[in-house]
Amino acid sequence: MNLVWAAEGVIAGVPAGTILRSAVFRLSVPSGNPDRTTCPRCAAPVPRWLLLRCGHCGQHFGTLGALEWATAVVLGLLFGRFGGQPDMLAFCFLGALGVALAAIDLSVQRLPDRLVLPAYPVLIALLAIAALIGHDAAALGRALLGGLVLGGTYLVLALLRPGGIGGGDVKLAGLAGLALGWLGWPTLIAGGALGFILSGAVSLVLLAARRLALQSMISFGPFMLAGALLASLAGAR
Ligand SMILES: [Zn+2]
Repeated sequence: MNLVWAAEGVIAGVPAGTILRSAVFRLSVPSGNPDRTTCPRCAAPVPRWLLLRCGHCGQHFGTLGALEWATAVVLGLLFGRFGGQPDMLAFCFLGALGVALAAIDLSVQRLPDRLVLPAYPVLIALLAIAALIGHDAAALGRALLGGLVLGGTYLVLALLRPGGIGGGDVKLAGLAGLALGWLGWPTLIAGGALGFILSGAVSLVLLAARRLALQSMISFGPFMLAGALLASLAGAR
């Protein structure tokens, strides 16, 4: 972990989190509903960018500073781990996107296609550039296979147990698999497994605290993303 890079990541994370605010606000609506474009308290239209508080009634949008803090922590860790390497941009892109996706999934239990699907060509392009700079075509091939393997694994699980893992999780798994595969097969396996371990551990704690009925759904996206993040930080490359 390079601490100078990590500090720069924390500093970059605060404005990045503010930029993510707009997407999180607009897309935090149940699946199939139109985007949120008005203040939840006074129904005044909200600006397209820089959503901090309502210009009409002063209501803060979302928990004040939460997205900024989360993005600062994630980018701090990723800058510290990947700083100065050709693949830094790819991992920071996925890290920032992951914060927005986790926030939306936690609030409305969905991972919008409109964020996940366009991220595929962007992430593949960023990894391809990193492969060119680093003369590592093998890593790019492994990334593409990794995306297929993790996405395919989630697809099988979703088909075996409908209602547990959703289509949004399958599409996000392909994205996470690209990044984890880039780092190597052990990282892919560790990252994939960690998502289930974290989700299982938190479910048990919530069950024990009687905060969760046995059949109730918890969002899987944040656990998948946290598992991928931890494995990426630990993965040797
Ligand atoms: Zn308002």
